This record gives sequence, C-alpha cells and structure tokens, in this order.
Amino acid sequence: MKSKVTAVLTAAMIVGSSVYAAASAEATITNLKDAIKGETTASAKYAAYAKKASDEGYGKIALLFQATSKAEAIHANNHRAVLTQLGESMESFTPEYDVKSTKENLEDALTGESYEIATMYPEFLKAAQKGNANLALVSFNYAYQTEKAHAALYKDALAQLAAGKEDSMASKYLVCLTCGNTYAGSAPERCGICMTPKERFVTIQ
Ligand SMILES: [Zn+2]
Repeated sequence: MKSKVTAVLTAAMIVGSSVYAAASAEATITNLKDAIKGETTASAKYAAYAKKASDEGYGKIALLFQATSKAEAIHANNHRAVLTQLGESMESFTPEYDVKSTKENLEDALTGESYEIATMYPEFLKAAQKGNANLALVSFNYAYQTEKAHAALYKDALAQLAAGKEDSMASKYLVCLTCGNTYAGSAPERCGICMTPKERFVTIQ
C-alpha cells in the first residue's frame, strides 16, 4: 500500500517536472528571440557609436566599438543558429537606438552590458538549464561571459576619456569568432571562454 502511494507520488512528480521542463523550453524560445533582438541592436548601435567616436577624433574608442559591434553580431548569429535548431524562426524587426556624444555613448554601452550581466543572461541561463536546452546554454554563456569583458573595456575607456588619455588605449582588438570574446592588444593561445585557437580570431585595428 505504502509503495503504491510512493509510486503514484513519483509519477505525479515526473509529470510535474516534464510540464515544468516544457514551460522552460517555451521560455528559452522567447529568451532566444529577446537575445537576438538585443544583440542585433547592440551590434548596429556600437557600429554607429564607432562612427561617432571617429567623427569626434577618438580613434581608439572607435576601434573598441568596432570590436564590440563584431562580437555582438557573433552572439546574435549564435542565438539564431540555436533558434533554428529548435525549429523556430525570428520575426523581422528594426534596431532602434540613439547616438549621442562619445562619453554618453560609452555610458549607455556600459549600462546595457551591466543589465545583461546582472539580470538578463543569468535569467536566460537558469531557464535554459531547467529546460535542458544545452545549445542555448552554450550560446547564452558565450554572450554572458563576453559582456563581462565588454563592461570592463567600457569602464576603462570612460576612465581614459575622463583623464584625457584616450590615446593610450589599445590600438588593436582581437575578437573570437566562436564566442565573441574580446581582447584589447593581444590574445592568449586559446580563447579564455571557448578555447578556440587565437589563429581563428579576427583582428580589428
Ligand atoms: Zn571564444
């Protein structure tokens, strides 16, 4: 009798957890679409910020934005590939953003990355884990880890700009084509996020 109750309870728990996993899988589809929109918009915005920095005579900051623009495009492509793998497709949209002064653009970029690091990607990663969405986990983690590197680069650029030392910033960036990881100046033998050999990095200079 006791074992029958246990069996019924176990069955209920299994059904409950698979319903839960299905809900998480649905959440991951929605999250992938949000992330594609976010990364595509960030890529277009940073390209515009690069042009603005160049117009204002901040060549080194322009390079940084070119590199981060490339990285966000890699994230968007990775997320799209996962969405396709899950049998879904992305509805079309138009990226919307404002271009202000380079200082304000750096602050905006730092705010955006900080939100993705503190809130967005941790939530997306949790849902992907619950739904056993392994490819989404990989793609979200690549972006999550890269945005931490971007936030540090933007913080440093703001400090250099405030100190009038923009010229002392890196004159080249290396972007990992697998995960978007972004290095200022030089890169290690293998990417610190995904282990891709540095021969397969793209150089922005
Ligand atoms: Zn990488």
